[in-house]
Order: sequence, then structure tokens, then C-alpha cells
Amino acid sequence: MNLDKLIIEIKQTYPTITLLENEPMKNHCSFRSGGPVRVLALPPDEAALVNLCTFLQQHGITPYLLGNGTNVVFPDDGAENLFVLSTGAMQEVSILQGGDLWASAGLPLSRLAAVALEHSLTGLEFASGIPGSVGGGVLMNAGAYGGELKDVIVSVRYLDLADGTIHEIPASACDFGYRRSCFQKGGSIILSAVFRLSPGNREEIAARMKDLNQRRRDKQPLDLPSAGSAFRRPEGYFAAALIEECGLKGTSIGGAQVSEKHAGFIVNTGNATTEDLRLLLNLVRDEVYKQKHILLQPEVILVSPVS
Ligand SMILES: Cc1cc2nc3c(=O)[nH]c(=O)nc-3n(C[C@H](O)[C@H](O)[C@H](O)COP(=O)(O)OP(=O)(O)OC[C@H]3O[C@@H](n4cnc5c(N)ncnc54)[C@H](O)[C@@H]3O)c2cc1C
Repeated sequence: MNLDKLIIEIKQTYPTITLLENEPMKNHCSFRSGGPVRVLALPPDEAALVNLCTFLQQHGITPYLLGNGTNVVFPDDGAENLFVLSTGAMQEVSILQGGDLWASAGLPLSRLAAVALEHSLTGLEFASGIPGSVGGGVLMNAGAYGGELKDVIVSVRYLDLADGTIHEIPASACDFGYRRSCFQKGGSIILSAVFRLSPGNREEIAARMKDLNQRRRDKQPLDLPSAGSAFRRPEGYFAAALIEECGLKGTSIGGAQVSEKHAGFIVNTGNATTEDLRLLLNLVRDEVYKQKHILLQPEVILVSPVS
């Protein structure tokens, strides 16, 4: 069955799922680049997402998952046949008996941290300024200021796309490392996660969040679109320092620029395309390698065009 027919059938079978057709991904990614994909589907809840995935699997289609779009960039052209699935509407959060926090994949990490604060729970202060979702955060093991999600995750529930089964695994089985988890292999959709925090002092938690967010505003180019840190931290070094030492601050290709404020970020100064970003990532990587003999690995995920 071709995608056009499939879309008509999805509309009839799952009327609660919003389908945005030929949707420009620049509207959904924080770097603000990316051309149209065939469909961006927005299931309203987990049950609808699971049903849609089962249906897609039966028709041989693997969807691409989108959280908050703060670490991913789509191609300018060539993704016209891509089926993208957003977890954006899945934003439930609750306190379990015993005090653990349960959150569904689409919940923004800032909201998760705010709920922890409301309940005087400490442990998620570091995450309050990370603009991703719970799902994207788990997949990337997002972290900042000495904290990482793996420090507070108890378990992760996910859908196995190969057979439609749902599993819950402990954090110890997630292969968490620096910006790494087993979910990066693909083939699964993170549905929700459980977090274990400690009782704390509400004023102290609020003060720590305020301080960390102020540090972000002081250091990071938050006034311009970006996808966060462009490169992973190479062991024993800081990517931003290496890039700055190589004289690359301010270097630009098209509308993509190595931020003047923080060399670890590549910002969109206007009409940057994904191709501008890709070329600039390559230029920075090659120049740092030439001068420092250290090979930088991108942290931002560039979705490949569909062949
Ligand atoms: C200004 C700025 C500051 C940032 N600061 C930080 C920081 O301090 N620390 C940090 O770690 N990161 C930071 N980031 C990067 C980003 O916010 C994190 O990597 C975040 O975890 C990505 O979450 P997301 O929901 O936006 O994921 P997306 O960008 O939507 O997706 C990222 C990857 O996760 C996959 N994915 C998303 N949801 C799911 C799911 N439910 N199941 C399976 N796969 C899924 C996607 O397919 C994609 O491969 C920053 C970004 C920006 C723009």
C-alpha cells in the first residue's frame, strides 16, 4: 500500500490522531531548519501511539520519533516519504506511591523538574533548563552541571517496534553512558520513565534551579535558534575550548554560525539550512582535527534523507 492510501486509512481508523501532511520540520526543531516530511503524526495519548505503531508495522513502515526537536535536524530535501511520530501530546506526570515520579515521554524536562520542585524533591535541578522531553532526554541521557538523567532514572517503559510488545526495564539495563543509552540503537519508542528523587528543601531547590538557569543565560546563545551543543565532549577536553582555540568562533556557512558567545553551539543567524549546518559541522571537525589531532563527534543528530 502506498503512503497516500495509508494516510487515508489512518485518518478513518484513528480519527483522534492529528496528521500534518507535507509538514516543514523547521517548524518543529529548535535549530529552525528542515524541509517537509510526508506526515507528522501527533497521537493524543500512549494508547493511540501504540495502535498507530502496530498499524504502521503491519504495513512495513518504521516511524521516526520526535520529542521536542531540540537535538535533531531534518534534511532540507529528501525526507518527503518520511513518517514522523511526535510524542508532544503525551505529557502526563504523577507521583507514585512511595514518592517516585512517573512521566510520559512527551513531558518537557523543565516541567518534570517543576513538578519535582512543587513536591520539594531534589535531584532534577540540573535538568530544569534542558529544553528536551523525557523521551529524548532518556535516549540521550541528557545532563548538565554534573547531573545526568541516569542518576535519577529507576526504570524505562518502551514499545518494541519489531513485535509491538511493551517492556519495562531497570536503569541498569539501559546501557547509560555519556549522552548514550541502549535506545540509540533504534527499534523502540520510549513511552515513559520513573524517576527517584530525595526529599529536599523547596527554597534550596528553587535557588539552585534559578542559579543554573542564570548561568545558562549568561553563557549560552539562547537568543538564537540552535540544537544545543553541536559536538560531544571529547574525553579529557571541552569541545568549546578546542573550537575557540582553533580560531573558529564566529565562523559561518550560509546562516549557520559558530556562536560568538559560546563556541560549543552552532546557531541559526537567520535562514540557515540543514546543509549549512552539516557543512559547518564538517568544517569545524576537520579544522580541530588538523590543529589538535582530536576528532570531534557531533552531538546534534542529522536525520538522513530517505533513499
Ligand atoms: C538551547 C539548548 C540547550 C541544551 N542544553 C542541553 C544540556 O544542558 N544538556 C543536554 O544533555 N542536552 C542539551 N540540549 C540538547 C537537547 O535538549 C537534549 O539532547 C534532549 O535530551 C533532546 O530531547 P528532545 O525531546 O528535544 O529530543 P529530539 O531532539 O526530539 O530527539 C532526539 C533523539 O531522540 C529520539 N527520540 C525522542 N523521543 C523519543 C522517544 N520517545 N522514543 C525513542 N526515541 C526518541 C529522536 O528520534 C532523536 O533521535 C540543549 C538543546 C538546546 C537547543
